[in-house]
Amino acid sequence: MSNLRDRHAKILATIGPASSSFEMLDKLFIAGADAFRLNFSHGDYATHKTNIENIRKLEEKHGKPITILQDLQGPKIRLGAFKDQAKHDLEEGDFFVIDDNPEEGDKNRCNLPHPEILDILTKGDKVYINDGIVRMNVVEKQGRKVTCKVYEGGTVSSRKGVNLPGVDLPISSVTEKDWQDLEFGLENGVDWVAVSFVQKEQDILDVKAKVDGKAAVLAKIEMPNAVKRIENIIDASDAIMVARGDLGVECPIEDVPSIQKKIIRKCRQEGKPVIVATQMLESMIENASPTRAEVSDVANATFEGADALMLSAESAAGKFPEKAVQTMHNVICRVEKSSAWYDLIHAREVSTMPNTGDAITHAAAETAYALKAKVIVTFTEYGSTALRMSRQRPRRHIIAVTPHLHTARRINLAWGLNCQIKPNPTSQESLSDLALSAVKDAKLEQVDAPIVLTAGLPFGVAGTTNMIRVI
Ligand code: PEP
Repeated sequence: MSNLRDRHAKILATIGPASSSFEMLDKLFIAGADAFRLNFSHGDYATHKTNIENIRKLEEKHGKPITILQDLQGPKIRLGAFKDQAKHDLEEGDFFVIDDNPEEGDKNRCNLPHPEILDILTKGDKVYINDGIVRMNVVEKQGRKVTCKVYEGGTVSSRKGVNLPGVDLPISSVTEKDWQDLEFGLENGVDWVAVSFVQKEQDILDVKAKVDGKAAVLAKIEMPNAVKRIENIIDASDAIMVARGDLGVECPIEDVPSIQKKIIRKCRQEGKPVIVATQMLESMIENASPTRAEVSDVANATFEGADALMLSAESAAGKFPEKAVQTMHNVICRVEKSSAWYDLIHAREVSTMPNTGDAITHAAAETAYALKAKVIVTFTEYGSTALRMSRQRPRRHIIAVTPHLHTARRINLAWGLNCQIKPNPTSQESLSDLALSAVKDAKLEQVDAPIVLTAGLPFGVAGTTNMIRVI
């Protein structure tokens, strides 16, 4: 049986209490998880460390690089505490005050422990509580006492999340806790770091300065400000996540599908991996089978050519983590076999071919198609040629060969890349031998057709891809 997954779009599964054991991680990997997300909004360092160690053991067991993504919590704004941990129902037309008074809250008011935010709120601003369930407008402001009027009612209680859609927040995307968590992540060898509540490219550049090449850095797009500056943020980032949970609260929910399409298209143009996240198979937290709408959502993201699709609570805290991964795998596989899929995702429409690497990978995809080659082998030092190959979205297996394990772990998140670790070629002959041995290791059934390969001369130097061969 082939050693390669039977699909191009990848599955990123969040780990949590439902999946924090070697046995369950193994089941999720076998079911189709290519990458695992550690959510630093939850869990302690001991648990995260054990999960990282278990994933590295899985790599050894299966002989494949596996991607670990650390998701930093970011500046999630929360209400203070209510007296006696009470819950209060607010109704349309009620007034509710948020202020800097440290006393516990009641039905009429509550502390917001972010004075810098109280300072910048102005009349007319929107204030949402509890994932956007309670919606209010600021109607009056006296110093740091901000009076709001409820226009959509619901329940408020201690530490509920607060969203301020459309407000330019005077806060950094990276908190003290995030910097500490980042240090822990880098010490423990995570491959990707996801920055939450990014507002501008500088948020990513600040994290990149600290990360210093030890991991790749991804921007979670969940704020309207980030959507406005998306080109600059894509430029500054190594990848993008469409974080539809908070995005659907911060923006009108009906805008989310178009934003998703626009971001996927722009990322594909730039050859930066893009992940679609949140509520993809939400009902599988409780049920063993998904809704029709969820299956359609997974299928749509696959048709759009997203690099990876993410499971959140479905794999982290749900009753059916393994089934959720299997379901996602089955839907992606079925879509990728449908006749409409290739026409819909084909990258030629978005390709701009600005450099030699793009021209070579484009030619490799075309050549593989013309010659009915089953495999493209792409030699890559730090992953950039492999990402260019992935960007072409060829309907062929792509085997990315690199001498660096850390490169393989990173680019494994990208569409269609099956990564193998092998030394750099030293001559034209060893190039062919290495490509043939990569194909042999992939255990493909029937490789009687030619193999197309891309490489760079001189060997082992990053950024030199200048060669295409048919063997
Ligand atoms: C999201 O908001 O969609 C998301 C992925 O972020 P988190 O799960 O950290 O809220």
